[in-house]
Amino acid sequence: MQYPKLRELKEAITALIKGPYTTKFPAEPHVPEKRFRGKPEYSKDGCVGCKACAEVCPTGCIEVKDISDSEIPLRRLELHYDSCIFCGQCQAACITHEGIKLSNKFDLAIFDRSQAIEAVEKELTLCEGCGCVIGANDHLAWVAKKLGPLAYSSPTSYLSALKELKLAYLDIKKQEDLTRQDRIKVLCPKCRREVTLNT
Ligand code: SF4
Ligand code: SF4
Repeated sequence: MQYPKLRELKEAITALIKGPYTTKFPAEPHVPEKRFRGKPEYSKDGCVGCKACAEVCPTGCIEVKDISDSEIPLRRLELHYDSCIFCGQCQAACITHEGIKLSNKFDLAIFDRSQAIEAVEKELTLCEGCGCVIGANDHLAWVAKKLGPLAYSSPTSYLSALKELKLAYLDIKKQEDLTRQDRIKVLCPKCRREVTLNT
């Protein structure tokens, strides 16, 4: 006759006294443990739109959509949580540590998978020369703040910082034939090089 192992016997007696480890969800609400990794959620104020979370996501479930032809150019980050593996890499890589956090939400079943989207939108800064995307306004301001006085070495950087402080008004319009006097403008690296070389 085979005797039960002592460990299993101990577990059986503990379960008899304390009750089962499993919860009664969905009959009763379940509160996950503190460090539970549930649905990732964006914070509109904490996110600066740098897209680092999309770069590190191992499943590629964060889609970055730059809509530059609308009246207000926007970057939209769409997290398709039906493909998320809740690894927490997005939260770990977030440059502000506040942009995206894994919540304790776990009951995510829905009938239409296309609705499984968590999104945040950020206004974009476009190049005044060619109109290409330079980055999200908040990201440029965040970088300028990090750089401190060094931000004044680049017009794109300090104009973004001054705009954030409401000390500069940028009415960005695409302008071809840039000359040297257009150096103090928000420009992408390619246009800045051309402006610098133009005499
Ligand atoms: S938790 Fe992991 S899989 Fe889910 S969005 Fe973040 S990085 Fe991607
Ligand atoms: S600030 Fe954080 S949440 Fe926002 S795009 Fe960058 S990494 Fe993602």
